[in-house]
Amino acid sequence: MNVFRRFIKNLTDVLTGRRILPDVYKYRCICYAFALVHIAITVRFYSLHYTILYVYNFLSVIFYFVIGTVLPKKGKFYTAYLCCFIEILIHSPLATLLAGWEWGYMIYILALIPVAFYLSYSTVQFGRNIAKPFVFGFIAMCIFILTRILSVYIEPIYTWRIYDKNLTIAYNLNSGLVFLMLILFSVLFTIEIQRNEARLESQNRILSDVSSKDPLTGLLNRRSMDIHLNEALELFKSKGKVFSVIIGDIDDFKMVNDTYGHTVGDEVLINVANIICSNIPEDAKVCRWGGEEILILIHSNAQAAAPIAENIRKAISNSRTKAGDAVIGITMTFGMAEYQPGYAMTKLISAADKNLYKGKNEGKNRVVA
Ligand code: GH3
Ligand code: MG
Ligand code: MG
Repeated sequence: MNVFRRFIKNLTDVLTGRRILPDVYKYRCICYAFALVHIAITVRFYSLHYTILYVYNFLSVIFYFVIGTVLPKKGKFYTAYLCCFIEILIHSPLATLLAGWEWGYMIYILALIPVAFYLSYSTVQFGRNIAKPFVFGFIAMCIFILTRILSVYIEPIYTWRIYDKNLTIAYNLNSGLVFLMLILFSVLFTIEIQRNEARLESQNRILSDVSSKDPLTGLLNRRSMDIHLNEALELFKSKGKVFSVIIGDIDDFKMVNDTYGHTVGDEVLINVANIICSNIPEDAKVCRWGGEEILILIHSNAQAAAPIAENIRKAISNSRTKAGDAVIGITMTFGMAEYQPGYAMTKLISAADKNLYKGKNEGKNRVVA
């Protein structure tokens, strides 16, 4: 019971994309599933005394078990698919020509096409080569049509003990199995595509983080801040929305590095970045402007931005960074400026910079507007 429950859980996980089926299992499952189908067909033909067909089916069962066990383990996935492809292309026409078109054995050939496309997309060995499944599909189509033509001219040799009702059951069973295969491989294909999309999205997110953020502090880097500054400028020009910038510089940071070492200095920088981020409005942007200089873009005028800078300054001067036995307290000086019509962005930044240096000269640990 436990084994059955685990099997159902694993199957659901695979079908919902929670679990990735390794290529070895993928091919093994396909081969073993084919073997099981052939066991059922062998029994049916045996009961009808269709000697050639039940002997052939019996050999097919062994064939699928052997290739399912041997080839995937050796990584020969492409050979495994090729073996299944050739077997079905021989078997379906043989059964059709010996027992009659009405059995529905040719429908199996249809399932070869989505399987080929799925495998070519999902297994490395096919190399995402679209030409291979295309050729397989074309060959399958030719054999399907050829068998149909031949079946019109060649009378089946096995016609005994077969009644319309039995034929309908056989036809429905065969087409039902093919439908299940088509549905299964379409589901697997969709899962594969969704998983690839999710992987791409997460890689894109990582790439965009790498290209837009400072790796040490996690703040925006200067390049992405330039984009936000230009957007703010556009918004000012189109809608008259005012904005301000605050530039902060850690006071006597060189001394922190000289006293405690560069690694501790890094810790202090990270701490400062975190404090700033938790003391700004949601729509504000913070970037690491230079070594220990931080630039904050606030979407409001200087009057509203000044208390924000003051809050940050207080929070930083009250904070402590622990590094081993040392507890380090630092302060930060801020200069700010509000955008004025006609300013170039460089002029706004240098206005804030001037205020920052005014603050440094006036004794540090202060906000100058
Ligand atoms: P002031 O109060 O005038 O700003 O003095 P200061 O010592 O902070 O100024 P100064 O420009 O002389 O020194 C800045 C120091 O910041 C020097 C540099 O080694 C350090 N620094 C810049 N980037 C980093 C970094 O990523 N990590 C560490 N640990 N230190 C950095
Ligand atoms: Mg400094
Ligand atoms: Mg500096």
